[in-house]
Amino acid sequence: MATQVLWFRRDLRLTDHAALLAAASAAGDDGVVPLFVLDPALLRPSGAPRVAFLLRSLRALDADLRRHGPGLVVRSGRPEDVLPEFVAEAGAEAVHVSADFGPYGAERDRRVEDVLEVPLVRTGSPYAVAPGRVLTGGGTPYRVFTPFLKAWLAHGWRAPAASDAGATVWRGLPSEGIPDDPDLDGTVLPEAGEAAAHGAWSEFLDRLPDYAQERDRPDLDSTSRLSAYLKIGAIHPRTLLADLGPDDTTYRAELAWREFYADVLHHQPESARSSLHPELDGLPWAGGDLLAERLAAWAEGRTGYPLVDAGMRQLRAEGWMHNRVRMLVASFLVKDLKVEWRHGARHFMTRLVDGDLASNQHGWQWTAGCGTDASPYFRIFNPVTQSRRFDPSGDYIRRWVPELRDLGPKEIHEPWRAGPPDGYPAPIVDHGEERASALAAYDELRRGR
Ligand code: FAD
Repeated sequence: MATQVLWFRRDLRLTDHAALLAAASAAGDDGVVPLFVLDPALLRPSGAPRVAFLLRSLRALDADLRRHGPGLVVRSGRPEDVLPEFVAEAGAEAVHVSADFGPYGAERDRRVEDVLEVPLVRTGSPYAVAPGRVLTGGGTPYRVFTPFLKAWLAHGWRAPAASDAGATVWRGLPSEGIPDDPDLDGTVLPEAGEAAAHGAWSEFLDRLPDYAQERDRPDLDSTSRLSAYLKIGAIHPRTLLADLGPDDTTYRAELAWREFYADVLHHQPESARSSLHPELDGLPWAGGDLLAERLAAWAEGRTGYPLVDAGMRQLRAEGWMHNRVRMLVASFLVKDLKVEWRHGARHFMTRLVDGDLASNQHGWQWTAGCGTDASPYFRIFNPVTQSRRFDPSGDYIRRWVPELRDLGPKEIHEPWRAGPPDGYPAPIVDHGEERASALAAYDELRRGR
């Protein structure tokens, strides 16, 4: 037995933590030192909501650890510089982590492994089934969700790990402390930490029976809102899966989308930046001043399309947006405003508290029609039809677009018909015309191939 370092990353929790279990059993009475490294390469590109949520999650983890020992040790710098020194300082025999399958994390871990003189032990991952495990009969990755789902369900997953922070011997070392939150410019985030994640989950379990019916309705509080907790690892998907019954197929399938996109990114790391159908890059995209104007109107929620604007304003206010509305605003940016998907994906990553490279980039590629499992390019969301269907009374719009609060359920989806109320813009483009021009450009591109 010897001291072990537990290097936390996207696993900021103490229960159902396979790497903690491994570290604790290797350490025995020699103790586990809990470490988090503030890595400038990860902090720099993350927007304020994600950085603030991370820092708050670290404070919550530190408080949880202090109930059992000396608390979280925080150091800043490049992990390949910090870890070797830290291991020497702790006199540790190994560094334990949950495996990271993202392009940056996997490469960072290889660099750290190269310079460490002790083993980097990977146990568990942020997924129920680690990316790369679910393969076709021919040993190749799945390219389409539905067969992946079937194979993922057949593969199955382990029961939650029986990590026990109370039975672990913890050791401390001097810590730099956790920096103050960045300015959130009014964005209100969910409460951070493992207890908050479990609270959100148990509260959602009461609503789970209605999830399949109501999950597409942004006006109802019908989804679990666990994405930020899953992203940061405040709760593990296995914990959720263990609570689901045989009939909870829809929620299980949503968790599988997260696993599918992580799998796609693992096999094709370039898909974080490049279209999986690069031929669509050749469409006539907006550029220059037009691009800047359209992006700004979209990001600020002043396109004149109520459901699009409501979604973009919810994103600013909460760092989160309902999935149905994410699909709509993404489709609107790409197909109506002719703005190439990467601009929208970048904006989402700076504003979302749950911003996750795999789910975000592939969610965008899916909507734009250039992803692995893409909705075809010619499927174009109609912002009025979507609004009528998924926010029938207009309650969601009224919550986020105060200029439209006095409109009834008939007018609110098309406020331009009666002349938009003061302060609310006329539609930035005509959806019918933009739909036609998007389809024409797509046809031309296909014929020219
Ligand atoms: P619930 O409906 O309660 O679903 C439970 C969990 O399943 C979610 O927390 C999430 O982990 C997973 N999930 C559900 N739908 C999806 C999906 N389509 N793809 C991947 N995982 C899913 N999700 C992120 O976590 N981070 C992102 O950066 C992100 N960007 C997106 C961008 C676009 C353009 C689109 C269309 C979707 C994006 N999603 C992203 C997926 C989805 O919108 C969110 O996971 C969901 O809205 C989170 O809310 P919830 O926790 O209440 O979801």
